[in-house]
Amino acid sequence: MLIFNIISLYLISMAVVTVFWSACIRVLNGSNYARTSLVLCAAMCFYILGYAMELNSATPSQIEFWNLVEYIGIPFVSALWLTIALMYTGHFTRCKKALVLAIYLIPIISLILRFTNAYHHLYFLTEGYEEEYGKLIFVKKTGPWMYVQSIHSMLMILAAMGLLIHDSVQKEDKQRGKILLITAASAFAVAGLLLSQIKPFNITIDYMALCLPITCVMVILAIAQFDLLETRSLARSRVFEYAGDAFLLINKQNRILDYNSSARQLFESINIRLNNGYISTLLSQVPDILEALKNKENSVVKLRMKTEDRYYEITTTNIDNRNATRGWIKTIRDITEIHQLNEDLKRQAMTDELSVLNNRRAFIRIGTDWVSEANKTGKTLHLSMLDIDYFKKVNDQFGHPIGDLVIREFSEMLKDHFGADSLIARLGGEEFAILQAGVNDEKTLRTLNAFLNMIRRHQFCYHGNQLQITVSAGVTRSQPNQTLESMIRNADKALYLSKNRGRDCVTVV
Ligand code: GH3
Ligand code: MG
Ligand code: MG
Repeated sequence: MLIFNIISLYLISMAVVTVFWSACIRVLNGSNYARTSLVLCAAMCFYILGYAMELNSATPSQIEFWNLVEYIGIPFVSALWLTIALMYTGHFTRCKKALVLAIYLIPIISLILRFTNAYHHLYFLTEGYEEEYGKLIFVKKTGPWMYVQSIHSMLMILAAMGLLIHDSVQKEDKQRGKILLITAASAFAVAGLLLSQIKPFNITIDYMALCLPITCVMVILAIAQFDLLETRSLARSRVFEYAGDAFLLINKQNRILDYNSSARQLFESINIRLNNGYISTLLSQVPDILEALKNKENSVVKLRMKTEDRYYEITTTNIDNRNATRGWIKTIRDITEIHQLNEDLKRQAMTDELSVLNNRRAFIRIGTDWVSEANKTGKTLHLSMLDIDYFKKVNDQFGHPIGDLVIREFSEMLKDHFGADSLIARLGGEEFAILQAGVNDEKTLRTLNAFLNMIRRHQFCYHGNQLQITVSAGVTRSQPNQTLESMIRNADKALYLSKNRGRDCVTVV
């Protein structure tokens, strides 16, 4: 009798632990597998408390009743446990329905067969009652379906154990204790199943009911102690899901494994519905993005949205495990504002504020490229330097602000006259440079002289003031392997000669 009291005490304690644990899960965590853990706790409670009540029942009808209560939980314990393992290791997302059917079909049939056993005896071949140590005990002979259910349970437990251990190894879990606990837990479950079949001691006990609570407590301990109820991985997945940037998780075969809501919205805005397909098929309409996603280097792509162009920076984070690449997280960040600011800054850095022409920096940078290109192709370049004559007098006579207006209008005329094919710059003050490619000496001189004539005749009118100016020019033609600096020196020399010759003329050096 004492043994039955001890077992009953143990069972009730375990039921209390299970209830306590389910309360903890509720308070600490709201994840999917935590919810399934609650259902597992409920199934365990039916099983353990049912068995405790069966052991303490005095009449066959009471025993029969509580044994049935146990079976509300028994068939589902191992199935729920495997479900939790699948969810915990992230394997439950795909082919959900087929998986649920494979796991729960046999438990559901078991439940039905147990409750209808009197009609077919497929679950228990025989049911009877015997006195053991002065206690009425429910004795039954294993029927064919009970074997099916036992093997199914065993497989579920082994699969769950395998999954959890594999997951720990995959994640290179530093916490070996977790693997140890899970292995020990599974060993208890398997032992319970085996003992139920072998019945080694001369006492009729449900060994599974004794072993399973220990198993559950151990698994729960392993998860709670070593993963903080997956809060860490939950936090990571939330960051992925709710990030403002678009994230795509791509495997080595360039197939999309996962994406967040920002990615879904971004692609929906260009009429692409993301799914777990290959990027080459899904994104064939946006070849720039496709190329950037295949590429491992960071890049910026322009996307034509409904009303405007937007710019996206695509960066790659390697996902590797033991030095082997398993896939990539591609981050697509909208950098339109930064891109525009950058472009504005670049433009400002290269533009002269007063004349809106290229400034000296831009002229040197672009001009150097032109010269090295010309050196490669053998093309001739002409560099003209222009300086307004006696500009000091304009300032002195009409004031600096009017001088500024002259410079601005002069610059516009320069642009109109020499056209977009020339590199035109204000090098400083009232000094300008024009670099031309693919024109001969004669045409260059003709164009320059025409400009000088035009300026000579032009009336600059501001606030009732009328003024006229002239401009001097110096021209040089590029030699093989010339540098821009030496061309500027030569053109400057020619300009100096024009000034010395009395101004308002062109000199060629
Ligand atoms: P020349 O070139 O024919 O020898 O005579 P210049 O009077 O033009 O020569 P100089 O180079 O000595 O003077 C250039 C003048 O241009 C000096 C300065 O007052 C004026 N200047 C330079 N930059 C600006 C500017 O941005 N705005 C105005 N209003 N004047 C400027
Ligand atoms: Mg001058
Ligand atoms: Mg000057």
